Amino acid sequence: MSRTHAEWQQLAATLGIEGRLFIDGEYAHAHDSRTFNCINPATGDKLAEVAWSAAADVDAAVAAARRAFESGVWSGLPPLKRGKILKRFAALIRQHRDELALLETLDMGKPIGDSTTVDVPGAAYCVEWFAEAIDKVGGEVAPVDPKLVGLVTREPVGVVAAVVPWNFPILMASWKFGPALAAGNAVIVKPSEKSPLTAIRLAGLAKQAGIPDGIFQVLPGGGDVGKLLALHMGVDCIAFTGSTAVGKLIAGYAAQSNLKRVWLELGGKSPNIILEDCPDLARAARTAAGAIYYNMGEMCTAGSRVLVQRSIKERFLEEFRKAAQRYYPADPLDPAAGMGAIVDQIQFDKVLSYIDQGRGEGATLICGGQATQVESKGYFIEPTAFDCPHPDLTICREEIFGPVLSVITFDSIDEAVRIANDTEYGLAAAVWTANVSTAHQVSRRLRAGTVWVNCYDEGGDMNLPFGGFKQSGNGRDKSLHALEKYTELKSTLIKL
Ligand code: NAD
Repeated sequence: MSRTHAEWQQLAATLGIEGRLFIDGEYAHAHDSRTFNCINPATGDKLAEVAWSAAADVDAAVAAARRAFESGVWSGLPPLKRGKILKRFAALIRQHRDELALLETLDMGKPIGDSTTVDVPGAAYCVEWFAEAIDKVGGEVAPVDPKLVGLVTREPVGVVAAVVPWNFPILMASWKFGPALAAGNAVIVKPSEKSPLTAIRLAGLAKQAGIPDGIFQVLPGGGDVGKLLALHMGVDCIAFTGSTAVGKLIAGYAAQSNLKRVWLELGGKSPNIILEDCPDLARAARTAAGAIYYNMGEMCTAGSRVLVQRSIKERFLEEFRKAAQRYYPADPLDPAAGMGAIVDQIQFDKVLSYIDQGRGEGATLICGGQATQVESKGYFIEPTAFDCPHPDLTICREEIFGPVLSVITFDSIDEAVRIANDTEYGLAAAVWTANVSTAHQVSRRLRAGTVWVNCYDEGGDMNLPFGGFKQSGNGRDKSLHALEKYTELKSTLIKL
């Protein structure tokens, strides 16, 4: 059922919000009773007081996870049975779609139309996909000496900590806990302090679905809580999504402690290359606008650099300006909103300072460039694009994580590929061309974990692995490859 703007506002006014952490099957206050305020970025209003997990809570959660994991209450279940419980979990996420979507939108400012159609159903789909897959993947019998039997099996890694960001809170968390739970691990989710509410709510649904105590726990709090988990000797694997800077720290914490497995999904500065034989320039412009303005540009895969061939540049920009209008910010609870609010004051200030820097470094505004408000409130920024005189401007190189596009002009395909790859990141890239050979040739040369041809951000399908080359990280979320992160390979040799 789709609701009107007024109905969402009404539902928001009566929504009960759980702010406690979740350890060993129970909601509880932080050990030292510390809390933080969760703020709605569209209004500045306080939504809830949320527990800030203490070191003692981290220890308690890790101990509960270890106990539950080693008891075999989850890892020892037949995969079919684990899958059935996870399917119930997915069904409960779907049943609570509106409540979860509303929490997500109030907490981090994204349009309610996206939370209801992308984030929440996407999380349910992920859990369900791994639930269905887990009894269909087996081991190997190795072709060894006939006097032996050589078995190759996969076993759960043990206690997995999932430290996740604020831009797609429920979805990024599910990309970690979906495969990790399916593989038989105990998972501790550490949501971002900017958007903890959906993860906290999920804990109750996990319990209701029948996931045993200690197998799914949630520790809200800040970077200190993530650091305690990453340094913890009782954590076997840390699955992280967030910035490249923090990803490097996490790898260091693992090295300083127990060499826990480290999986990193990090930042990006993804190029979207529009060649002069682009099959449909108006569609390319609309897609380019979506690629940078969807989710307020707070996207690791944001198409934040458009590389456009000189001969079609003016026509492209004309279409792009029209397309950008659709993303003018509105109240995130309005189902028609194209863009919502920036997650908080810190991110808002950071994005505006990049806009100032773009102006200061000689880029020309194509559209936007201003902060704005909705009903005199909130952290909103206009969909902004700059025409950049060269690709070495700060706004062409650094991840802004906001609705700011850099347009760079090129003459030849070689030049486009060189500029596209001239970045520390390698998360995603796109190329628009009508020539199938050019499409293949350019795709091969792009150093990125995902390449789109004549589209952008297609990829809701769980069958496709997702992750980055270079400093965009290691390992892959989604697809059967994600199971590799949460399992250890074991060789068993039996002498006959
Ligand atoms: P962030 O790195 O600031 O924080 C991510 C998480 O790490 C949060 O839960 C935070 O509390 C925690 N954290 C912060 N400092 C820590 C520390 N020292 N030790 C352990 N944990 C710590 O990132 P963010 O601002 O929440 O998210 C934005 C970033 O995430 C962007 O760079 C974006 O590109 C990236 N991202 C990547 C993907 C991907 O799949 N590649 C997806 C979404 C977001």
